Amino acid sequence: TNLIDIKGVTHAYRTPNGPLPVLDNLEIGVPEGEFAAVVGPSGCGKSTLTRLVAGLMKPDAGEVWLHGELVKSPRKTVGMAFQNPVLLEWRSILDNVILPLEIVSPSMPRAKRRERAEELLELVGLTGFEDKRPSELSGGMRQRASLCRAIVHKPDVLIMDEPFGALDAFTREDLWQTMHELRAKEPFTAVLITHDLRESVYLGDQVIVLSGRPATTQYIMDVKYPGE
Ligand code: ADP
Ligand code: ADP
Repeated sequence: TNLIDIKGVTHAYRTPNGPLPVLDNLEIGVPEGEFAAVVGPSGCGKSTLTRLVAGLMKPDAGEVWLHGELVKSPRKTVGMAFQNPVLLEWRSILDNVILPLEIVSPSMPRAKRRERAEELLELVGLTGFEDKRPSELSGGMRQRASLCRAIVHKPDVLIMDEPFGALDAFTREDLWQTMHELRAKEPFTAVLITHDLRESVYLGDQVIVLSGRPATTQYIMDVKYPGE
């Protein structure tokens, strides 16, 4: 059974020039604990897809299922990470990571929240930077912190929209490695939107190619390395 099931999703935006069909009969299934990498040219509807999974929008036709439930409204059980991390400058790195816990688990004791955030920051190599402000960190470090914030409350799904797109090639490859380490310690299901093909095969358990106008699931490749 899949944790994410996208069934026959079709969507058009209403524009002053009439409907703009964006997605056509999309079919995507992501088993629990797997990473799906979605690649496609810019403008093909990748961000639209993330908004649908997060419940921020409803498709014209078709269904999005998460954990056996039809997605009808925005959910707390979806974590999001974007190309430009939106960290709050007036909070320390630690307090930025803690934020989703304050919202989703208000009854969790303060010390426990802190412990959880510190544990994740350690996994991504940010121990020692807990008390810094976001602007005191490099871009790569801010992206690490924002990944921690996206998964701190153990969402069912992590959606990443071009999370490493703004980083230089070396920093990006460091982050790929970090993602693997993070997944080994902290299993989660993820949809990664990228236009970097190398990234998609390095991080994805499956690579889903979107193309066409409106875009459809052209091709789905299972990525299995020898020994897996
Ligand atoms: P991608 O993330 O692959 O670049 P998007 O999902 O952002 O693609 O956009 C797909 C298409 O839909 C583009 O042509 C874009 O201009 C259009 N689009 C996106 N959002 C809206 C909107 N709110 N209203 C109208 N058109 C939109
Ligand atoms: P990363 O690969 O972790 O994103 P960068 O390549 O951007 O990091 O930066 C290289 C290294 O520089 C970091 O791993 C970190 O050790 C150090 N560094 C960056 N910003 C700071 C800072 N504000 N204070 C201390 N060290 C920093």
